[in-house]
Amino acid sequence: ESQASLTDNDLLQVGDGLQDEKPSSKSPDTEGDESHPAKKRRMTPLYLYRWGYLCVTDICSQSWCEQQMVYGYAPPGDVEVVESAQMKKGATLHKERELEVHDIVPIKVSSAEDAWAVKLLNMISQVTMLQRGQKCVREIHVFGEPYDMGVFVVGVIDELRYSDKGQFELLDFKTRGVKSVPSKSQQRKESLQVCLYKRLFDDLVQGRLKKESILKHLRRNPDKLLGEEIVEYGKNVGIACTTFGELLDMTLLLMAHSDIPSIDSLKIEYRYQDDEDSFMTKPVDYNDKMLRRELGHYFDFWKGDREVEGVQIEEAWKCGKCPYADLCEWRKKKEAEIKSKLLHKSR
Ligand code: SF4
Repeated sequence: ESQASLTDNDLLQVGDGLQDEKPSSKSPDTEGDESHPAKKRRMTPLYLYRWGYLCVTDICSQSWCEQQMVYGYAPPGDVEVVESAQMKKGATLHKERELEVHDIVPIKVSSAEDAWAVKLLNMISQVTMLQRGQKCVREIHVFGEPYDMGVFVVGVIDELRYSDKGQFELLDFKTRGVKSVPSKSQQRKESLQVCLYKRLFDDLVQGRLKKESILKHLRRNPDKLLGEEIVEYGKNVGIACTTFGELLDMTLLLMAHSDIPSIDSLKIEYRYQDDEDSFMTKPVDYNDKMLRRELGHYFDFWKGDREVEGVQIEEAWKCGKCPYADLCEWRKKKEAEIKSKLLHKSR
């Protein structure tokens, strides 16, 4: 089986269709009117640091340290953050796993709608493969507006598969430089990630995600004609459509009316980077109420309803490995609070 992907050049040209969405301080309809709702919305972190929507990985980073995530987008000074050898190796192993189940076909895209069309067509072809009896698919795009809380999220699930007992499982694949159980904080972050994937996927197959929400948050044009190669690739996977809106309609319909079930169980598989030994697979319990509560807190920041937060004192050990530690305002504030408390006690 094959999966479409953007060609490198196209990625540079249109990326994910995102470059053109960066907030402009000169919007003709709102210029000069700070209280205009559209202008106010564009001044929120969701638009200042992202493009009006989030990746699942943003929320994972946020759950580790929100302040660190923000510094990642707006560094507090001249801080060099280099990708570790461990991260590079992890990305390579992920790619190898993906290629075990399908090939990558480069596709030329000429608009942001095309870039999104590639994701939609891949989803359609993966759902079709599962319906035809394939046991496992990898790198599945998901997106949605969880709990209708006004923030749109996109992500990629590592693997969906049917277990021997017929359960529909989500598997997230992690590589580690040491053969050990991750810290509690790391586990919390990873659990949040897979629970959010489940919610996004289930919203799609249960028909909860509406076309209007997608168009509103991604700000894509439903009437945009799809590029030639996209239309051709669509035909290969049994989809005949010429506009982005038509493809979106078909994708949502197909997801909601397929016989693909909601996800039954969540698992995280850990592999040791040196010998690629799969040394542990950990089940994760899905707790919808907790997920909603956590997301609500994180989304409040993105919507500009609260200030950024750093780690609490019990997790101050994270600052020891943080590249922004010397310049971090949150850390300085917390240190000053502790000093003042100690001074107060000693009096
Ligand atoms: Fe977060 Fe600590 Fe880094 Fe500040 S120094 S960004 S609080 S981890």
